[in-house]
Amino acid sequence: KITDFCIQLNDNGLLGKITEIRLKSLQDQLWTSRPLLEKLPYNRVPYTRKNNYILNMLLLCYHNNISLTNLDHNTFPIIKGGKIPLEDVVDNAYYSKHRKRLREKHILFLDQIISDDKSRLLLWKEILIKAYVPISTQRKEAKWYTDIRSLITSDNIHLNNSIRHLFGILTDNVDEARSYNIDKKNRSLIAFYNPRFNSLAVVIGKIQGIDRLIIKHFHVNMSQCTDTYTYIYQCMDYGCAANAALSTRSPCTFSADWRCLVPLLTESQFASIQPTNLIEFNIFDIFDFAKKKYDIMQGALTQNHVISPQLQDNIILDLLDSSTSRNDLLRIQRSLAPFNNNDYYIFEFYTDGSLIELGTEQCSISCAFAQISDLFDIPH
Ligand SMILES: [Zn+2]
Ligand SMILES: [Zn+2]
Repeated sequence: KITDFCIQLNDNGLLGKITEIRLKSLQDQLWTSRPLLEKLPYNRVPYTRKNNYILNMLLLCYHNNISLTNLDHNTFPIIKGGKIPLEDVVDNAYYSKHRKRLREKHILFLDQIISDDKSRLLLWKEILIKAYVPISTQRKEAKWYTDIRSLITSDNIHLNNSIRHLFGILTDNVDEARSYNIDKKNRSLIAFYNPRFNSLAVVIGKIQGIDRLIIKHFHVNMSQCTDTYTYIYQCMDYGCAANAALSTRSPCTFSADWRCLVPLLTESQFASIQPTNLIEFNIFDIFDFAKKKYDIMQGALTQNHVISPQLQDNIILDLLDSSTSRNDLLRIQRSLAPFNNNDYYIFEFYTDGSLIELGTEQCSISCAFAQISDLFDIPH
């Protein structure tokens, strides 16, 4: 029987093509990144598929310890989009139980549910604001989320070391957050990235007027923020740097490009948290989402002299191949560019005309870097 199945898989005609298509469809239904031929990350099979011939053959191979080697990654491809497939960090029982819910949320990789610095699991509310996660009315943490949380974290927040080591720090795993829906006219609590403001460069506000977009400014009190909460309060300072005095009803208001806004809470959700001033977001994750939105917008609008949509937004990764000196340079960049420096991603490289042997293996050039305090300002 298994020999027949192999013949069927390797068939170059119509039978092979149909088998290939059915396998791909099954892979999508069962929601795994790796081809099913290589791995079945389940401990049980959905009852509704118990008559599926291909699945039964795969199970037969599996129970008889026969492994199939995928020789053709074009025919049986791995679904890309992340570095670590979820099935690699959970057990088969978890995957069997939750694959349906994960599929509904379009989550296939660990990359999608952890913070940019790969140290924390994203908070539930943060997963829900991702652009590709369908809007749902369910605000409570789902079982798939709490289950994986106990599998990969020790304190419900920080990832276990074994998990953290799966990533280099350099994988960009920040996803785009959902956009503000201007037609719904919701007076949402929003965040956006503004490279002109100091202090974190992420600005929080609540929409007051929509016809002309007026936003009430909110401050973040960092000393009261935790890994799971951000403490916010309305700005009452007429002299605030953000104040554009657009309203007589609130002391500090300003406007923004609505396409850069990341909605965090709807007006009614905001009303329910109001007495505590705490929102269930991590301030660093808010920063990452807001900056991502801003970068996507900028990419669509302009071709900056250092950042382009095809390139990494870290120039060191653009210009240099992996090497120990590149690692040193990244370390220098990290220490010179702390998080509260809003220009932290700006690193300018320059060279002195020492290029020799261009286009040969002996090609060499010396270069240096400077950190620029502001986009068009003087190097330090
Ligand atoms: Zn922490
Ligand atoms: Zn203000």
